Amino acid sequence: MLVAREHAPPTATWRQLLRDAVRDPHTLLRRLALDDSPLSARLDAAPEFQVRVPEPYLACMRPGDPDDPLLRQVLALADELQPSPGFVADPLQEGDHNPVPGLLHKYPGRALLLAAGGCAVHCRYCFRRHFPYQDNNPGRAGLEQALAYLRADPDIFEIILSGGDPLMLDDAALTELVTRLAAIPQLRRLRIHTRFPVVIPQRVTDALITLLRETRLRPVLVLHINHANELSPELIRALQALGDARIPVLNQTVLLRGVNDSLSALSELGERCFDHGVQPYYLHLLDRVAGTAHFEVPEPEALRLYSALAGSQPGYLVPRLVREVPGMPGKQPLAPKW
Ligand SMILES: *Cc1c(COP(=O)(O)O)cnc(C)c1O
Ligand code: SF4
Repeated sequence: MLVAREHAPPTATWRQLLRDAVRDPHTLLRRLALDDSPLSARLDAAPEFQVRVPEPYLACMRPGDPDDPLLRQVLALADELQPSPGFVADPLQEGDHNPVPGLLHKYPGRALLLAAGGCAVHCRYCFRRHFPYQDNNPGRAGLEQALAYLRADPDIFEIILSGGDPLMLDDAALTELVTRLAAIPQLRRLRIHTRFPVVIPQRVTDALITLLRETRLRPVLVLHINHANELSPELIRALQALGDARIPVLNQTVLLRGVNDSLSALSELGERCFDHGVQPYYLHLLDRVAGTAHFEVPEPEALRLYSALAGSQPGYLVPRLVREVPGMPGKQPLAPKW
């Protein structure tokens, strides 16, 4: 059972772990003792959206289990090449809400800055897998434009750092960015949407915690945890440190076929998150992005699951079930929150 851990150096820094992430689907299967499983015949060996799996995330997978819910999120299968009606490259039509490169202003009161282009992990279901990062990498000039846009709008109170993953920036770059944002008087809150600490918990450095604790802006960290098995001992330690610094941590999850599409998986996720100070926030339906049809849970089934969850959990453990609808302001709730 130690196969998956064989290469995980316990003292590696987040940069080393990021650099040394597994990028080859065959290596991934071999590390999990699955090279002889039927999965190996179903791989997309050279996917356009490359495989990327950091060691700490790999260490949370069960060796020998072809149905492992974490493996399913990161293994490139030939299923992704199947065209499916209704699944398109840009289902959210985000191009329409892009006032300056790198900034999305779609909802009242808050704007979203694409602070970094890449991610620490490549999730196969990702709605950004076809996103034109090259055209939307704010860069230096773009960042100045985005800051000018924010300064000029007295009604934006909250800045959301997203990406890609904003924690791809190192602590020095992040500190510089947050300092500049904090100088915009109408901004009150700084929200960071990230999956980085879930796959490389070592990213929650002392410097990051200090930055969040000391900025004038009220910080909120929104993690992206899809399954209870992602709560590794290292992640739990990082959550403890965030809790000690009184930094609110929320969680959003994508409802995914074969990953968390059962009442037990969703309840366990909510319970385990709450055990470690993480408040469930959103449960998203999959965005219908080309290559992700095999992850979809049809809406009637999603609603059945959700009402079972709401009927069996205290209200504060029930996330909101939402979906993005192109052209509509805000994420659209599918069912009232009980
Ligand atoms: C999700 C999202 C937000 C934040 O929405 P909340 O409902 O406040 O969590 C803001 N901007 C964009 C573009 C988003 O996709
Ligand atoms: S971390 Fe988030 S943005 Fe990056 S690939 Fe995964 S789901 Fe997509």
